[in-house]
Amino acid sequence: MPTKSEKSLEDLFHDTLRDILYAEKKILKALPKMAKAAEAEDLRAGFEKHRDETEVHVERLQEVFELMGKRAQGKTCPGIDGILEEGEEIMEEFKGTSTLDAGLISAAQAVEHYEITRYGTLKRWAEELGMTDAVALLDQTLQEEAATDEALTAIADASANDRAKHAA
Ligand code: FE
Ligand code: FE
Repeated sequence: MPTKSEKSLEDLFHDTLRDILYAEKKILKALPKMAKAAEAEDLRAGFEKHRDETEVHVERLQEVFELMGKRAQGKTCPGIDGILEEGEEIMEEFKGTSTLDAGLISAAQAVEHYEITRYGTLKRWAEELGMTDAVALLDQTLQEEAATDEALTAIADASANDRAKHAA
């Protein structure tokens, strides 16, 4: 049996950082597809805006790796793969219907919530590890993920859910 003391919080932080780097890169590829699929202009614009933000999220993560003196290398995250796969299913199954945008929003919010849990944890651990610069970088991204989640709720409330409800 390995001793419990051989892996540190820094190891766990690094491992989780690799997980979210992989996830962000996958999200970066998924967002243009979601923008293209969106029926409503505000939703399309929202996905495009968040694609640009996501590019910066990747850059910030690369900075955190640099602060740790580690190579920015992702690690396969089956969680985000599954969430994105479900989003693709919705795109296929609800294509061309009035319910599509409500479905796209629900899929996108699952992604944002995944990111929020990861960045929330990473920020907290960075605080514990005294990594002040990393805390600031992770917090900026956390705020943008939360704002994106709220913007998606606003679009759902303003139009998408209503259109879905009145679909034949
Ligand atoms: Fe992100
Ligand atoms: Fe995001």
